[in-house]
Amino acid sequence: MRLTLEEIFDEFADLDRQDQSLYLLELGDGLPELEDAARTEQNKVHGCQSQVWLITQVDGGNEYARFTIVADSDSNIVRGLIAILEAAYNGKTAREILEYDIDSIFRRLNLQQHITPQRRNGLRGMVDQVLKLARMHLGKIGGPEPNVVRQVAGDARSVRELSSGGSHASEPQSAPNGIGILNVDNIRRQFPVLCRMLRSGSRPIFLDSGASAQKPQCVIDKEREVEEQYFANAHRGTYQFGQRIDEEFEGARTAISRFLNAPSASNIVFTPGTTIGLNMIASGWGRKHVQAGDEILTSIMEHHANFVPWQQLAKDRGATLKLIPLTSDGRLDMDQLDSVLTKRTRVLAITGMSNMLGTVNPIRELVQRARAVGACVVVDGAQSVPHLPLDVIADDVDFLAFSGHKLYGPTGVGILYGKSERLEEMDPIIFGGHMISEVRIAASSWSAAPAKFEAGTMPIVQAIALGTATEWVQRTGLESIHQHEQLLTKLAMAQLQAVPGITVYGPDVAHRGGIITFRIDGIHPEDLAAMLDQQDVFARHGHHCTMPLHSYLGVSATTRISFAAYNSTDDIAALMNAIEFALKKLMRR
Ligand code: PLP
Repeated sequence: MRLTLEEIFDEFADLDRQDQSLYLLELGDGLPELEDAARTEQNKVHGCQSQVWLITQVDGGNEYARFTIVADSDSNIVRGLIAILEAAYNGKTAREILEYDIDSIFRRLNLQQHITPQRRNGLRGMVDQVLKLARMHLGKIGGPEPNVVRQVAGDARSVRELSSGGSHASEPQSAPNGIGILNVDNIRRQFPVLCRMLRSGSRPIFLDSGASAQKPQCVIDKEREVEEQYFANAHRGTYQFGQRIDEEFEGARTAISRFLNAPSASNIVFTPGTTIGLNMIASGWGRKHVQAGDEILTSIMEHHANFVPWQQLAKDRGATLKLIPLTSDGRLDMDQLDSVLTKRTRVLAITGMSNMLGTVNPIRELVQRARAVGACVVVDGAQSVPHLPLDVIADDVDFLAFSGHKLYGPTGVGILYGKSERLEEMDPIIFGGHMISEVRIAASSWSAAPAKFEAGTMPIVQAIALGTATEWVQRTGLESIHQHEQLLTKLAMAQLQAVPGITVYGPDVAHRGGIITFRIDGIHPEDLAAMLDQQDVFARHGHHCTMPLHSYLGVSATTRISFAAYNSTDDIAALMNAIEFALKKLMRR
C-alpha cells in the first residue's frame, strides 16, 4: 500500500527516535515490489550502497503529464526511503518535480538521524535520477526547466530581464542558441548574509567570492547541527557521539570524492586549505623526488601559494624554477610549452584558473604533454574547483589542492586530492596522533593515506560542512553555475570595457572564468574599492597574492571583482553605477 506524505509525517511525529527507524523499515515492508523485467542494469541507480532500480511512468507527452515513480531495492531501509520519495514525487509534473524542495521533506522527517552518510548518498543518487528523468522529459517535449532561463546570445538587455525576476524563470524564451542558467533569486534566498540589510538600507553586492564565497543556509545549519547534537573528536571514541561523528566525517570525504569523481574516498585528504595542501606536496613529495639539476615548471600567473613553495623547493634541492611564457592576452603560450617542458621537468605546478587574470588553463592538454616527459602535475584548484566542472580521473592530474571557503564551505578546511600511487610515495610533513601505524622508541611507521596526512585533530565540523557544501554545489549544478558565471562575465566585461581609461586584464570570455581584474587611469585601486564600498559594492583591491604577475604587467595593484552562483545581472548594474559614482568623486580631485 502506498502512503501519502501527510500520513507518513503523522506517523513519524507520534514516534520516538528508535521507533522512527523501525517505521522506516515498516514503510519498506509495505512497498510493492518492482517486477523482475524492470530490474535491469539500465534502471539501476548508481552511488547506492545497496541495489536500487528506479523507473518513471509518465501519463502523457506534454508538460502537464504527471509522473509516477516506481522503485525497489534489496534493502528494506532503502525501500522505506523509496516509499517517502514516491509519496513526495508521485502525481507531480516534471516541472513541479524540478521545483520541489525535497530536502525540506528530509529535514522534516529528520532523516539525518535515521540513516548513515552512505545511505544519504544513495538517497541523493535516487533524487538525482528522478530529477534527471524529469529534465529528460522536459527536454524531449521542448519545455524549459523551471530553474533555468534561456539566454539570448549576445543580447545584454534580454539577459538582464530574464535573470532579474523569479517570475520570468519558467517562461519559455525563443532563444535559438540558448544556454541554461540559474534562477538567482532562489539561490540568493539560501544565503542569509546576502539577504541582510546594511546600514544604508541596501543589501550587499558581494563581488569578492574569489577571496571567499558566502555560505548557504544548509552549510551553516550543518555546522550548527554537529556542534549542537553530536560533536566529539573524530576517530577517537566508539561511544554514540564518536560513532556518529566518524560517520559524518567519512561521509563528507565520500561526498567530496564523488564531487571530484575521484577513484575512492582514500584519495581525499582533509587539509586546512589550498596553501597548506600545496606546501604538503612541495615538501612531502617534492623533497623526495626533485633532485639537483631537475626542473620545476610553473607560470607567472600563479598565486603565491603555488609559487613560493616551488621556489623554496628549487632552492633547497638545487633545481631550476622555469615559467611557461604567457601570450599577450594572459594565457599560457602552449606553442612555447616545448621550450620549457623538458625531460628534466619533474613537476608541473599550475593553477586551474588564475585568481587575477581569470584565465582558465587547459589542464587536460597540460597533463598529456607533461606525461610525455614523465613530469608530475600539481593543480592549484583554489579558483577552478568552485567554478568549473572537474573530473580528476579524466583529467588525470597527480595532485589537486583547493579550499573549502571558496566553495561555499567553511574556512579552515581544504582538500588535497592525490592519485593513490602519488599519495603512497609522498611523505607526511606533520607528525603526531592518528597518522601513525606504530610508534616505537627507535622509529615509527605511518598509516596508509589519507590518515598518513591527517595528524592531530582535524577541522572536523568544517570538513563535515564542506561535504554539505559540495552536495549543495552538485544539487545546484556546477555546469549551470559555470554557465551562469560565464554569462555574467561576458556582460560585465562588455560594460567595463566601455569605461573611459580602463584596462581589463586577461583573455576573452572563452578563455576565462568569473574573475575580472582592472585598473582605471588616474584612480588608485584602493580608492576605487573604497568608493565602491560606499555604494555597498564589495570588491577587492591589491596584488591578490600575485606579485610576480603584477610586476610582469607593470602595475602594483588592481581592482578585482569575482562572481559566484548568487550574483546577478543586477549586481553588475550596481557595480557600474558605483563605478560611475567613484569616477565622479575621484576624478574631481
Ligand atoms: N591559489 C589560488 C589561485 C587562490 O586564489 C588562493 C586564494 O585566494 C590560494 C591558492 C590560497 O588559498 P587559501 O588562502 O585558502 O589557502
